[in-house]
Order: sequence, then structure tokens, then C-alpha cells
Amino acid sequence: MSAAGGVYRAFERGQKSGCDSILVFTKSNRQWKAKPLTDEDIAAYKQAETDFDIHPVAVHASYLINAASPNEALWEKSYQALKVEVERAGQLGIPFLTVHPGSYVKSDEASGLAKIVAALKRVLVETAVSAPNVTLCLETMAGQGTNLGYKFEHLAQLLTEAGPSDRLGVTFDTCHVFAAGYDIRSPETYAATMDEFDRIVGLDKIKTFHFNDSKFDLGQKKDRHAHIGEGFIGREGFANFLNDPRWADHPAHLETPKTKEDEDGSEIEMDVVNLATLRSLIK
Ligand SMILES: [Zn+2]
Repeated sequence: MSAAGGVYRAFERGQKSGCDSILVFTKSNRQWKAKPLTDEDIAAYKQAETDFDIHPVAVHASYLINAASPNEALWEKSYQALKVEVERAGQLGIPFLTVHPGSYVKSDEASGLAKIVAALKRVLVETAVSAPNVTLCLETMAGQGTNLGYKFEHLAQLLTEAGPSDRLGVTFDTCHVFAAGYDIRSPETYAATMDEFDRIVGLDKIKTFHFNDSKFDLGQKKDRHAHIGEGFIGREGFANFLNDPRWADHPAHLETPKTKEDEDGSEIEMDVVNLATLRSLIK
């Protein structure tokens, strides 16, 4: 949900779309700088949190952060921005902060993973007092460009080497996992993929889901989100997750385009449509 005008405004937008849980940014997602949260900002947020029956809330960290950067200055900048994200989530009492692990750019996978481990270790220490209840969720990635986190092994390595810590978890993005080459479309392929995740990472590490269909086919390593049922994953893939009792209490968030143009040119609010599609799949 957009947090324009203040993070607390995301609750009313979420309610309008019929959300039980929302995913927000607590600052501009394409800018490094953020005005510190004031006492008024925090009070407005806490008030909205009690006024609306929407929980839990999760934060998505800025897209600029690259904890795998081989460039020292950029790595430090990324680290400081990540720390601010964790602290802001802590100030607002938000339990989950989802971050993209990072891109190794001109280095290599092993160096990139080592950089991410260093950032995670440091942020866990430096926010142990300011944000002890914030879990950092590493997002499963599509493997586009030099993105890390597209193999379950990457996530396992990061969680193990930076931890073990109960403040580290995973956000499972359906589009990304599918784009990375893990099939989830049929009950059988879904079961095999989840078994593989369990064996390598551990299903208990999954804290939140991003439910996005994929504009590209299995294993294309392209991160392009489609509306639910309109992509290559299809409805049955989402039904597998929605009817799996292991996820009954896990929040899932849409990151699909907000609107779509109707044949007559009018705009359709797609969060409402995508949520209705997902809910219709629950048996
Ligand atoms: Zn996502």
C-alpha cells in the first residue's frame, strides 16, 4: 500500500481494498534520505493500527539498498540505509522488514554473499536494542541480472552465516521463485518445491509471502509481476499455497500493478480484483 502522506494512511487504503494485512514503505523507496519519524508520525501510526483491523503489517525496504555491493562506499551507504529501515520498523512496532538480498554487480556470487552476511551480522548487533522485535526477511529473488537469493542455497547460507538468529527469516515471492526455476503450478510440483525449500532452508524460516503471478515462464529469471491468474503461474499455483494449512497464519501481500484499463478505457482497481481471485481459490 502506498504510504503517501504518512505511513498511517496505508491502513485506510488497505481497508478500501479489503486487505487483512498490508505491505508498506516507511520512506520513499527510491530515495536514500528519509526524514526521521517524529513523535506525531509514530502516534498517528499507532492510532491507525488500533482503528483498523489490519495486521500484521510488513515493511519493504528501499530498492536502492545493495548489501552485496563490491563498492565500499555504496556498501556502507546501503548498510546505513538498511539500519535506518530496521530502526523505523522498530519505532512503528512493525514485525517484518523485507529486503532484497543484493546484487554482486562486477564481483561474483561468493563475494556478494559474504558482503550480505557482513551487513546482516552488523545490523543485527546494531539494532539489537532499538528494534529487537523486527525480523529481517530476505526475499527470494528471480535471478535477474546479478541478483542473489534466487537459489534456496543462497538464502540458507545467508541465514546460517549471519545467524542463526530468530530475527532473520524469508519472504517467499511466488513470481520470483517461479522465475528462478522452481515450479509451483501443480500440487505435485508445489509439494516438491516446498520440500526442497524445507530441506535446504527450513519452512519455519518463511515469515511472509508476496503473491504475484509471472509475466514470464518458468526459469526465465525475469522479474515481471502479473495479475493473479493472468500469468504463467496461474490460479492453481496460488490455490496450492492458499490451501496449505502450514500458511494459514502467514501474511501474504500483492505487488501486482495497482490498476488496469478496462476495454472501455476506465480504470479498474486491481488490488480488489486480485484479492477476490485469491480468496475464491480457498477451498
Ligand atoms: Zn516481492
